[in-house]
Parts: sequence; structure tokens; C-alpha cells
Amino acid sequence: MIPRSHPRYHSLIKREKIIEGFKNGIVAHAGLIAHGRGEAFDYLIGERSEDFAILAEKAAVAKMYLAKNPVISVNGNVTALAADKVVSLAKLLNAKIEVNLFYRTEERIRRIVDEFRKYGVQILGEKPDSLIPGLEHSRALCSSEGIYSADVVLVPLEDGDRAQALKNMGKFVITIDLNPLSRTAQTADITIVDELTRALENMIEFARKIDHLSATKILSKYRNGEILSQSLLHINRRLKEMAATLQTPQA
Ligand code: ATP
Ligand code: MG
Repeated sequence: MIPRSHPRYHSLIKREKIIEGFKNGIVAHAGLIAHGRGEAFDYLIGERSEDFAILAEKAAVAKMYLAKNPVISVNGNVTALAADKVVSLAKLLNAKIEVNLFYRTEERIRRIVDEFRKYGVQILGEKPDSLIPGLEHSRALCSSEGIYSADVVLVPLEDGDRAQALKNMGKFVITIDLNPLSRTAQTADITIVDELTRALENMIEFARKIDHLSATKILSKYRNGEILSQSLLHINRRLKEMAATLQTPQA
């Protein structure tokens, strides 16, 4: 048991969930490494949802709300950390959920599908019938009623090649990625530089209130380049402030 008073409580709980997911065959070996990279960026950001994240989360909800066929793509890490939150958001925005794995094994797919069934929802991707052009076979597999025909896709913790391949198909790509420098973050139309569970909690709150008029307004003002730039300036500012407090005064 991790005591609630521990300064890294939330971070450690997430780590436990990833480890548990790994033991249950939901998270891949590479998922452990991806999580560590995310943790490092969250440390630099300060482990809270900053303004650049909130603005992107609002825009993401607006875009999904106005979409014809919005789809949320889930992998092992997303399932282990936040299956419940994905289900809540999908319900509020009438979005489909589809499983897609970088390292696809039928066993892991089945375990992820089972995890979502616990919440009483069906997810796509177990029996894929289409291919995303430009990716090698197992990573390209997708469902014709889901990702293949989606106009807007939310792809949290995604790999850069797949984000680019989805863009090449003409899709509007939204990602959640703590690393503003990753290829995915740089490729997406909306980049939420925030931790997955915090981002989904905020998005659920926004999705409860969104309407057509406010969605259109939010999107007309949104500039993703500005958001990415703000996230880097924020990290830069924090590092400078920390460095300044460590400098000893001149004699
Ligand atoms: P890319 O292929 O886009 O250049 P990458 O190869 O560095 O990225 P991947 O392993 O493909 O990284 O994708 C995982 C991404 O998800 C990483 O950028 C990591 O920072 C981020 N990430 C990991 N855990 C979380 C989390 N809990 N919340 C948000 N982002 C996360
Ligand atoms: Mg990658």
C-alpha cells in the first residue's frame, strides 16, 4: 500500500496500474518503457494540467462532439490506466472505442476487449477487416466501421508512424502525449500535452457541458502550433526557475 501522504502518490498509483496491467497481459514490455518516458516529461511539466493542456482538451472535446464518426483508439497502457474514463468519455461523445496495438498479439487483444466488457461496452478491433495504408500488416489492421471510416480519431499514447498514417488518410488526429517533442505530438491536429488520466478527467467534465455553439467557437480560435510552443516555454521556464534557486550568491 502506498500512503496517500507520499509526495509521489499519484505517480506511484499509475505505476502500480501499469505493472498490474503488465502482469495481466494487457501492457506490453515496450509499454513499461513508454510509461517511463511519459513520467519523465510529467516531472518536467510539474504533474498538473496547465493552460495549454486545458485549451487542447476543450478543443478535442469540441471536435469530437461535432464529428460524424469519432473513434477513441486504445492500447495496453490506455486500458491499464484509464479504461473506465475512456468508457465515460465515449458515452458522453457518442464515440466508438477500438483497440489497436503496436505489438499485436491475439491474446493481448482479447484481454483488453475483456477489460472493456467489464464496463458493459463492446469495442472494435478484435476482428479487423481493413488496413491503414502505409503501415506494416499487423499495425495497419483496423475496423471498417471504426478507425477506417472515422473522421476524427483520438489516439492517446500513439506512435509517430501511425499518427502520420492516419493523417495521410485525411483524418483529424487528436493525441494525448506528455512529450511535446514526439513525432505524434508534432503530427497531430490537436496535441494534449497532459497525463492521460488527468486529460480524460478534464475532457469528461467538458463533454458534460459542451454544445454546438461553444464547440464551434472554441475550434475557430484554436492553434495547435501555439499550444505546442506554450508547452515547451512552460518547461523551459520551470527549469530556469529551478536553476536560479540553486545558484549560490556571488561573494
Ligand atoms: P513518437 O513515435 O511519437 O516519436 P515515442 O516513440 O517517443 O513517440 P511511443 O512509445 O511511440 O513514444 O509513444 C508513447 C508516448 O506516450 C511517449 O511520447 C510518452 O511520453 C507518452 N506517454 C506515456 N505515458 C503517458 C501518459 N500516462 N500520459 C500521457 N502521455 C504518456
Ligand atoms: Mg514511437
